Amino acid sequence: MNRRNFLRTTALGAAIAVTPISFSAFGKDTATKATTPGGRMRLTFEPYELKLKHVFNLARNKRTSTPGVQVRIDLDGITGYGEASMPPYLGENVESVSSFLSRVDLGQFADPFRVKDIHEYLESIAPNNRAAKASVDIALHDLLGKIMGQPWHKIWGLNPEKAPNTSYTISWNDDAEELGREIAECKPFKIIKVKMGVGHDKELVEAFRKVYPDKAICVDANQGWNDKEKALEMCNWLAERGCVFVEQPMPKEKLDETAWVRERSPLPIIADEFLQRLPDVRRAAGAYDGINIKLMKSTGLHEAHQMAELARALGMKVMLGCMTETSCAVTAAAQLSPMVDWADLDGNLLISNDIFDGIKVVDGKVTIPIDRPGIGVVPV
Ligand code: MG
Repeated sequence: MNRRNFLRTTALGAAIAVTPISFSAFGKDTATKATTPGGRMRLTFEPYELKLKHVFNLARNKRTSTPGVQVRIDLDGITGYGEASMPPYLGENVESVSSFLSRVDLGQFADPFRVKDIHEYLESIAPNNRAAKASVDIALHDLLGKIMGQPWHKIWGLNPEKAPNTSYTISWNDDAEELGREIAECKPFKIIKVKMGVGHDKELVEAFRKVYPDKAICVDANQGWNDKEKALEMCNWLAERGCVFVEQPMPKEKLDETAWVRERSPLPIIADEFLQRLPDVRRAAGAYDGINIKLMKSTGLHEAHQMAELARALGMKVMLGCMTETSCAVTAAAQLSPMVDWADLDGNLLISNDIFDGIKVVDGKVTIPIDRPGIGVVPV
C-alpha cells in the first residue's frame, strides 16, 4: 500500500471510521480535525505490509515481508504516531492486532498523561497482544511529547550524544551475488550483526572477514545452537574473530545450559527470545549477561524504560533492538538509546517502503532527531 492509499483508506476493523487526514509535521492540521468532540483522544489504525529489501534467513524462518499496522492517536489537532510490527514467530498478526485495537477506547481518558492507567486498561483488554499494545504506547508517547513540546530522550533526562553505534544485520544467502551485495551494504556501519544458526555460520563470518578484516561483529544465533558444547565452541571461535557478544545462542527453554555456556564463554551472552517484558529481566539474571529490549516485546516505551533501569540495577548489559519496522517505531526506540550499551536499530533500513523520516545513522552512530518533539518522526 502506498502512502496516499494509507492516508485515504478506512481503517480495517476500526470501531471508528478514519477521517481522511493529511499528515503534516507534528500533525497540526486544522483543516481536517480528527479529534472527537470534547477534546478526547481518538485512535485509528491501518494495516501496512513492510517489504523487506532482502530475503531474511533466520534460524527458524525465512521471509520477504513483515505484516504491520500503523496507528495514530489524535487529540485537539495534534497527532501521535505508532505502529505494530508482527514477525510471525511472535504469534500476532494483522487480524489479532486489528481485533485488539478495535476494543481500545481511549476516549474514556480525559487526561492523556495518565500513562499508567492507560497501560493498566490495555492489560485488562487481553493478556498478550504485545505489539498491539506497543503501537498504542508509541502513539501515546508521541502525542504526549508533542503536547509538552519535548522529545522523549530529553523528558527522560538522557544525553543524545551518548547514543551508541548501531549494528546492521546480515544473514546467510545461498545466492553468492546477493550475499556479496548484503556484505557491501555493511560499509557505513561500525558494528555488524551476523545472523547465525542456519548452518553456514563459519562460512558467513569468513566471507565477511574477507571484505572487512577489522570491523566489529556481534552474533545473533536466534536459538540456533541446540547443544551447549557446540554453543561454547562457537563462542570461543567467534571471540578470536572480533565478535563483541552473542545473542540467544541456545533455545530459550534451555536456561541451565545457557548458564553453563555463559560461565565459560569469553563473550557476553545476551537474552532476546528468552525475554519479553519487565518480570523476565530478573529471570534472565544469572543465565545471561544482558538483555535485548524491543518495543514490540515490551509493550512499548513505558515498560522498555523500566526494563532498562532494572537491568542496570541488576548489573546487566542492555541492548536495544527492533523488528523490521518503519522509522516510526525505530525512532521511538532510539529515544532510549543513550541508556544502552548496544543498539541494533536497523529495522527501517531493512525495508523498502518506509513512510516516516526519523532516526539517522551518522558515521555508524544512532542519531536522534533532537529538534522534534515526541518520538521524533515526520510522515514522508
Ligand atoms: Mg535476536
